[in-house]
Amino acid sequence: MISCEKIKKDYYTALLSKDNTFEGVFFVGVKTTGVFCRPTCPARKPKFENCEFYKTAQEALLASFRPCLRCRPLSHPNYVSETVTLLVNAVEENPTKRWKTHHFKELSIDESTARRQFKKHFDMTFVEYARARRIGIAIKYIRSGESVIDAQLLSGYESGSGFRDAFSKIMGSAPKNTNDHKTVLKATWLDTILGSMPAIADETGLYLLEFVDRRGLKLEIKRLLLKTKAAILPGTTNPITSIDRELKEYFDGKRMHFETPFHLLGSPFQKDVWHELIRILYGETRSYSDQAKSLNKLSAFKTVANANGANQLAIIIPCHRIISSEGTLGGYGGGIELKRWLIEHETAHKK
Ligand SMILES: [Zn+2]
Repeated sequence: MISCEKIKKDYYTALLSKDNTFEGVFFVGVKTTGVFCRPTCPARKPKFENCEFYKTAQEALLASFRPCLRCRPLSHPNYVSETVTLLVNAVEENPTKRWKTHHFKELSIDESTARRQFKKHFDMTFVEYARARRIGIAIKYIRSGESVIDAQLLSGYESGSGFRDAFSKIMGSAPKNTNDHKTVLKATWLDTILGSMPAIADETGLYLLEFVDRRGLKLEIKRLLLKTKAAILPGTTNPITSIDRELKEYFDGKRMHFETPFHLLGSPFQKDVWHELIRILYGETRSYSDQAKSLNKLSAFKTVANANGANQLAIIIPCHRIISSEGTLGGYGGGIELKRWLIEHETAHKK
């Protein structure tokens, strides 16, 4: 977004006079209508205070504006093919859709042609366009007070980092509407050799550390929000910095246990189970029945297994060290391949 007042005034003058020398120089987002336009749009001109100016159409899309139907900011200045028009319309019909090969086939569109034509006209591929629109929508949720991580999941955005970048670029600082929340938690995506891991914490401890592919992650975050009455914003806290460093050491095979403070949100029984898990040493494994026995809960075998599954601090609370009695790996929220990797990694590096 253009923030220099002087430039904005110049652009606004160009907008009022429909000065076509400014075509391609800027796009204007109209806050009252949610659309963005070319400088020469024939529609009635907005007030200055309702305008946000952008250098590219992509930035306007990322700021949750949709293309104006009158001046068609995405189809200027070149002739736009039917393919492009069709796809732009298809995105507007269902902006949160994640485009797969079969979707192109259903529209009888050749995927690589679409890619090439979008790149040529808008300087972004079709997938980038659809993604920009999706992120824009997620950011709209945030503006209306939804939590960030929730918005990310709502928009079906697959990896955290693109969203995070777009978010910080556009919002600059924390979104408004967080007054009703008791606390604010910060979330960061940590890059590890096993993929991106969302970490959520306040200044006193970690609440969540998970593999991004973990089944039930969305539900887990919803539960966390409910229990803490918190809003989640992108950012970092001391516990996040600390676990980031400790995880790097862990993945390098140099750290056997973690010192980052954390919060356990669970029933007293779940907490017992989690504390018991932490006692299992690095590089060792227990069976589910061993675990139930040591908790004097032989009859509650299933309950113990459920408590393992409810753990929100992957790796730190090592539920990956629990395997089935027959020596098979048993289940794991993050997926069996991750579990195998973690066990082998620890076996190889234990001292
Ligand atoms: Zn327009």
